[in-house]
Amino acid sequence: MAHISGIDRSQTLLFPEAIDDYVGPDNPVRFIDAFVDGLDLAAAGFARVAPEKTGRPGYAPGDLLKLYIYGYLNRVRSSRRLEAECHRNVEVIWLLRTLKPDFKTIADFRADNRKAFRAVFRQFVVLCRKLDLFGRELLGVDGTRIKAVNNKDRNYTKNSLEKFIKNVDERLDEYLKRLDEGDVTESGTGGSRTKNLAEKIEALRAKRERYKDLLAGLEASGEDQISLTDPDSRAMAKHTKVAVGYNVQIAVDAKNKLIVEQEVTNQVLDMGLLTQTAGAARETLEVEKIDVVADRGYFKIEDIEACEKAGMTPHVPKPQRGYAARNGLFRKDEFRYDAEKDAYICPAGQVLATRYESRQRDLKRFNYCNRAACLACPLKSRCTTDWRKVSRLENEAVLDRVAERLKARPEILNTRREIVEHPFGTIKQWMNQGAFLMKGLEKVRAEFSLTALVYNLRRALNILGIEVLMKAVRA
Ligand code: SF4
Repeated sequence: MAHISGIDRSQTLLFPEAIDDYVGPDNPVRFIDAFVDGLDLAAAGFARVAPEKTGRPGYAPGDLLKLYIYGYLNRVRSSRRLEAECHRNVEVIWLLRTLKPDFKTIADFRADNRKAFRAVFRQFVVLCRKLDLFGRELLGVDGTRIKAVNNKDRNYTKNSLEKFIKNVDERLDEYLKRLDEGDVTESGTGGSRTKNLAEKIEALRAKRERYKDLLAGLEASGEDQISLTDPDSRAMAKHTKVAVGYNVQIAVDAKNKLIVEQEVTNQVLDMGLLTQTAGAARETLEVEKIDVVADRGYFKIEDIEACEKAGMTPHVPKPQRGYAARNGLFRKDEFRYDAEKDAYICPAGQVLATRYESRQRDLKRFNYCNRAACLACPLKSRCTTDWRKVSRLENEAVLDRVAERLKARPEILNTRREIVEHPFGTIKQWMNQGAFLMKGLEKVRAEFSLTALVYNLRRALNILGIEVLMKAVRA
């Protein structure tokens, strides 16, 4: 039996006469077109919305924005590939009405309008809010690391630079020693070994100068690391498997796992980012109160307190840090605080009432102990090597409230995983988000605004369908 075969290429065909006939009524590209046409691009901050009175006419920002949204929705992010799509992709030809901007125009548009993409992301979130796609009861906050355009070999910390300089010094000493010996022993080589060594020494000295300059620059900047290709990027924690990159934060509404707020920072840790991420999402959702759940990486008493003060109810598990947790001794949460007595009750039932004060960051810290009880305690080997001290920060009642809430709703931590893993999983796997393409914090923020926008767009299309969305943007 023969294979299925194509037609004869010279056969005459009856193609539809209008380009519009090639794009079906439920094609998402129609929604992109309608959504962008409905935006106030000048208010969003796009440049050159009104055409220049003189000079060569430029492309309308709306057309280039449509191209980017289409590209990100279809895993095409690079300007060169977007240019190629303008020539061969019938959906893009329809969307851009046969316009064919070159890659430089496309790339410049993204770089020049970097702040405006965030406004477009917000506009779509507002549309989702109008369509009742948000539950507005629970937010999951999480962060992921995305690689920057900066090789790990081009990122230095003060320690690494000092180590490099020390290494270079040792090698220089060794070469100089060999050079001295060469003066005495070289014979019959025409002085080539000495010449080689002298060249190596010169190269090492130049390297040493470079490291010294970098170290001086780092110390003057007050930063703790320096990246040479993308100066805004930072070396991330080892477990994130992203050598040098950015920290992407999202706040996701639990109802449909839509991203309400997103921000890219170059802060290495999530700690301290809870209130700013969730707070912005709460404002967008226009609610007075909302529950917020995050993982233990966000556990910081000042941030959790600020979150409560901003009208949110944080749920953040306490990480097990410190000497006792590391050495398998009784953890702090095995000691109960008695507010009436202002004392801790230890696992042996003893009252730790003696109190002395110290400081942690800007906070007062009270330390509780009972040396006499510890000395005679049968559980001592499971608790301490000498006598046990339990510390309590001045505002630690906020952590007690978090612990009580988690005890009452332990399942909320699993819910958190489901809420935030969906967007990050989709963005990394399905949308194939690799490293950022641009350099600089503002530019990668623009990139991620587009990524988050199309994640929401695809999700809304899946949930409501194109008809409902089209009606909403035309209303
Ligand atoms: S060692 Fe001290 S604090 Fe620890 S269980 Fe015994 S009495 Fe309590």
